[in-house]
Amino acid sequence: MELHGENDFKVKSYQSVVNSLERHSKSLSVMDVEELQKIEGVGKSLAQSIYRINEQGSFELYDDLSAKTPDGILEMMQLSGFGPKKIKLIWEKLEIDNLEDLLIACKENKIAALKGFGNKTQIKLQEAVEYKLSWRGYIHFREAKKLSEKIIEDLKTIEGVTKVSVTSATRRKMEVIKPLEILIAAENKAKIIQYITKNEEYVLDKKNSGPLSLKFTYKPLKAEVNFVFTAKDQFINDLFKTTSHPNHLNASLANGETFSHILKEKQFTSEEEIYKAANLPFIVPELREGLWELDWAKNNTVPKLVEMSDLKGILHNHSTYSDGKNSLEEMAKYCKDLGYEYLGISDHSKTASYANGLQEFRIKKQHEEIDVLNEKLAPFKIFKGIESDILNDGSLDYANDVLESFDFVVASIHSPLSMDEKTATNRLLNAIVNPFTTILGHPTGRLLLQRKGYPINHKAVIDACAQYEVVIEINAHPWRLDLDWRHVRYALDKGVQISINPDAHETNGYHDMFYGLCVGRKAGLTANETFNAKSLEELSKYFKDRKKSALSKI
Ligand SMILES: [Zn+2]
Ligand SMILES: [Zn+2]
Repeated sequence: MELHGENDFKVKSYQSVVNSLERHSKSLSVMDVEELQKIEGVGKSLAQSIYRINEQGSFELYDDLSAKTPDGILEMMQLSGFGPKKIKLIWEKLEIDNLEDLLIACKENKIAALKGFGNKTQIKLQEAVEYKLSWRGYIHFREAKKLSEKIIEDLKTIEGVTKVSVTSATRRKMEVIKPLEILIAAENKAKIIQYITKNEEYVLDKKNSGPLSLKFTYKPLKAEVNFVFTAKDQFINDLFKTTSHPNHLNASLANGETFSHILKEKQFTSEEEIYKAANLPFIVPELREGLWELDWAKNNTVPKLVEMSDLKGILHNHSTYSDGKNSLEEMAKYCKDLGYEYLGISDHSKTASYANGLQEFRIKKQHEEIDVLNEKLAPFKIFKGIESDILNDGSLDYANDVLESFDFVVASIHSPLSMDEKTATNRLLNAIVNPFTTILGHPTGRLLLQRKGYPINHKAVIDACAQYEVVIEINAHPWRLDLDWRHVRYALDKGVQISINPDAHETNGYHDMFYGLCVGRKAGLTANETFNAKSLEELSKYFKDRKKSALSKI
């Protein structure tokens, strides 16, 4: 609407309705017009529009606006740091409607001359465009996993398909995927071509397909998918070959041999056999990156990786006290129902006014509610936490006597995010030194495929966490997965504890823990090194001791 110059008042009213719809805990899809109108800010015409979405998948205003908006403009709207007003200006004044032309315009210095832009903004824009273009065609691991499961289910029903598995980067549980590869042993390829061409959501890439592979695009996600064909008795060898990173496959083993050589010797019937032939212990697919896993294998020190069942509780979560969708009680009960021993609630702090952050008097209210719930739900326990904004100078945004009232504090940067490495690192270091900081939240602020995050000196930040015994989170939201697993390895080597935190803003968000677990395992994370694998008793003691030590330092 902003892009097409609708009046500001109308735009704002839609924005505020979207906020209230997003926070509504009941599914909109089962409501009728009357019930929809009871939601704050939803009038009759909007209720009818929502109802039409339920019935027909869309509504008039949306159809009109999307018909006159080129796809390239929608892609430009996703550029981090650039809102619709700026994109509209570029579109109108320079008639640019796609990323490629926008990049050329930046390089030709045409953007800086536009009103309200200038040199600095042009540089930022060029960086954002280059970032976006470099990740084109990639999808997040969560989407790749879901899509692959659906495709594999379909393929299993096709006559003549004898074996099928997801492979390559998706099987290694990489955080972003391109292409999604599936290995297939099939007697009848024509049937598989038919499966692709009959599905409206797939577009076969005839030019790049051949007898050994079929390439196509999954339109809703613009995802590249690749079917790789093999013979039934060659399946395990090819599964191993396509799964492994080349650095794993071609690393020098004993006697200068490599897995590539071993695979040529015979057709294996399991991957375990392949490692046996190499005289090495088994290595799970997510570790096969050719980084550290072969040294572990050679020294027989492959760690026993953390598993879902090791996780005893869920820390870093939001409720309706700040910008969450579910009430504190709903969040707690669902966590308990999932079999966890504890929940750490950490709503936004007062600086995060956009997220309804907690002023001091509301913290008191929340703590009273937690006390009541803890009696009701015992032995399950809710820990009193906060996600405290790290301010510009690195301080947390409450006075010490307020910080003292929490069991734990997640310290995170939310804004401003535009910083150079030195500024960002110093800001984090100051927060880490604060004795009340328990966990460092999403250390780089990145959103995979969307926003690079601010640059930090990883070594300095991790070293400080080790020194001040601050836990680092792997924010398990599939768009964040921050701290990156490559740096998690360094943190583990320094003895830093890692917490797998879903940053759930609704009960369903708990299930994102799985994605954090996957990348933690890529770094070799064990249960012992995982903060939320501690039992309720262990964690209670930890928080108590930590607070005692904090109080002695202030
Ligand atoms: Zn946050
Ligand atoms: Zn959060």
